[in-house]
Amino acid sequence: MSQKIVFATNNRHKIEEVQLLLKDCYKIISPEELGFRGDIPETSSTLEGNALQKARFVYYQLFHLPCFADDTGLEVEALGGAPGVYSARYAGDDKNSDSNIVKLLDELSDKDNRKARFRCVIAYIDGNGAEYLYEGIVNGTILREKCGEKGFGYDPVFCPDGYDITFAQMTLADKNLISHRGLAIRKFTEALGANFRAAR
Ligand code: IMP
Repeated sequence: MSQKIVFATNNRHKIEEVQLLLKDCYKIISPEELGFRGDIPETSSTLEGNALQKARFVYYQLFHLPCFADDTGLEVEALGGAPGVYSARYAGDDKNSDSNIVKLLDELSDKDNRKARFRCVIAYIDGNGAEYLYEGIVNGTILREKCGEKGFGYDPVFCPDGYDITFAQMTLADKNLISHRGLAIRKFTEALGANFRAAR
């Protein structure tokens, strides 16, 4: 029987991706399913800080249950690593993915270097309050226009290295095999069965 674990996010796309990865061992519960409908704070200037902040909020302020959170940034080489930790609000506080992509393509319009990477950090807090961090990175390039209807966020303009399609043209299962979040989640689940490396 699968154990339950809280995923500290309101993003249904992330829940769908991660539930597919964990389907054999964990049933993911969202804060919303447990009755929380507010915003989960993320005010840190690093992905690690935000992931920990979200997990700590859900653990200490809400449910006192083992939980994990992720924070992801798109790091673009020609933009000095921007938008990075500010990826969600790149084009403004309404966190609109279409506007974020428009701004990204505009900033890159005169750039030949299209190299970018997604970096994902998972923070996990176990039943004793111990904290752990896991990282996943996928390298790729930013296209000049959107391609594909699947996925979310920057997926329609991100083409992972070794592929000629974007994340938005892949099935969820194929994206999970190579994505930043898929890699971080696999490190996390491997650690669940082994000794944990404590977060500093
Ligand atoms: P956050 O981790 O929810 O803070 O996400 C930061 C930003 O990156 C948001 O604009 C998300 O839509 C975007 N993002 C997060 N994960 C992915 C992904 O797997 N693909 C594309 N965009 C993503």
